[in-house]
Amino acid sequence: MQLDIAEELGALIEARRDDLIALTQDLIRIPTLNPPGDNYLEICEYLGERLRASGFAVELIRAKGTPGDSDRYPRWNVVARREGHRPGECVHFNSHIDVVEVGRGWNFDPFAATLDDGKIYGRGACDMKGGLAASIIAAEAFLELCPEFPGAIEISGTADEETGGYGGVAYLAEMGFFSPERVQHVIIPEPLNKDRVCLGHRGVWWAEIETHGEIAHGSMPFLGDCAVRHMGAVLDEMETSLFPALAEKRTAMPVVPEQAKQSTLNINSLHGGQSEPPADFTGWPSACVPDSCRMVIDRRFLVEETIEDVKQEISDVLERVKTRRDRFRYDITDMHQVLPSMTDRDAPIVKTVSRAIEEVLGVAPQYVVSPGTYDQKHIDRIGRLKNCIAYGPGILDLAHKPDEYVGVDDMIDSAKVMGRTLLALLTDRDD
Ligand SMILES: [Zn+2]
Repeated sequence: MQLDIAEELGALIEARRDDLIALTQDLIRIPTLNPPGDNYLEICEYLGERLRASGFAVELIRAKGTPGDSDRYPRWNVVARREGHRPGECVHFNSHIDVVEVGRGWNFDPFAATLDDGKIYGRGACDMKGGLAASIIAAEAFLELCPEFPGAIEISGTADEETGGYGGVAYLAEMGFFSPERVQHVIIPEPLNKDRVCLGHRGVWWAEIETHGEIAHGSMPFLGDCAVRHMGAVLDEMETSLFPALAEKRTAMPVVPEQAKQSTLNINSLHGGQSEPPADFTGWPSACVPDSCRMVIDRRFLVEETIEDVKQEISDVLERVKTRRDRFRYDITDMHQVLPSMTDRDAPIVKTVSRAIEEVLGVAPQYVVSPGTYDQKHIDRIGRLKNCIAYGPGILDLAHKPDEYVGVDDMIDSAKVMGRTLLALLTDRDD
C-alpha cells in the first residue's frame, strides 16, 4: 500500500471529527433499550438516511417472529451496501443497535450524549454506538478518496445482540446476508480497545438441573423426600470434584481477562420448595417438604473441550450423587448452547487489521478472545463465514456500567485502522 494515500485517508478522517462526534451523539440520543427493544425502527431509519446519502443501497429488515418481536416492539435491522465499480471482495462492518438498561449511579444523563473533556458519555457510547459511528466515518472517508474501488462495502445495524442476537445477526445470517458468496470479511466494532483484535469467544452451555422429591407435611419430613437436600448434595459434589476440575482446564485461546483462561461454571439461579410469595402477602408459608428444586447453570467452555464432554461432566456429577443417595432422581434440560469460535491468526481480516493497527498506533496488536459470546457466533455457525473479528474503539470494562463513555481520539484512531483496512482490501494493490 502506498503510504501517502493512507496518510491522506487519515487526514480525511481527522477532518470529520465534528461529524463523528455529532453522529455518535445522535445515535446515543435514540434510546434503543433492550429489553424491550425500543426505537429500533427509528435508529434504522436514521442510519438508512445517512448511508443512502453516501451512496449505499439500504434495506430495512424486520426479523418477524423472532424472540421478542411484536408489533409494539418490532425487531428491525438495517443493511446498507455500496457496490464498487468492479467486482471484488466485500468488507462488512456489523454493529448492534441495542443497549442494555441504564442502571443506577450515573453522573451524566445517559441519553444526553454529553461531550466532556474529549469523551462522549451515554448508555451505548462504547457498547457500541461509538464503534458504529467510527465505521461509518471510515467508510465515508474511504469513498471520498477512492470512489472507484473494486468490491463492496456493507454496514449493518442489527437488533438484540444483548439478548442473544436472534432477531438480529442470527436472522440475517439465516437469510443469507453473511454467506461467503456475498461477504468475505466481517469486522464487528465492539469495544475491545483500539489496539486489540478479538478473534472469537468461549463456548456456552445453559442447562437446568432439577432434583425431585416428594411432598409431605413439614412436621414429618421423614414421610416425604426433600428435593432441596438432594440439590445440596449436588452442590457439595460440585464443590469437591467439579470446580477444582474446571480450574485445571487451561486453554491456549488468548482469553481476557486472565481468570477466564479456564473453564467456568456459574450457578445462575436456584429455586426449591414454595415460590416466593407476592410482595403484598403478609402471611406465613405453609409447612411442606419441597418436591422439586431447580438450578440453572451457565457453563463457559474452551475450544479444547467438546460440548459432549461438557454435558457428560455434569451427568457424571449427578450419577456420583445418585450412588450415595437412595431416592435421588434428577432431570437435565438443555436450554441453550453456543460452540466456541476462534478465527485463525492467519485469516486475511486478522492480518490486515493487525497491520493497520501497527501503522496507525505504532504498536503490535494484542490478540484476545472474549470470555462471553457476541454476534460472531451467528456469522460463524449460521453464515459459515470464518473470516470475522471484533475490532473497535472503547474500553471493554466500561460496557454496561454507569457513566459509560467513548473517547473521541480512540474513535478517530480506530476509524483510521478501519479505513486502512478498506484501503488494503478494496484497492488494486501492488504489494
Ligand atoms: Zn456490544
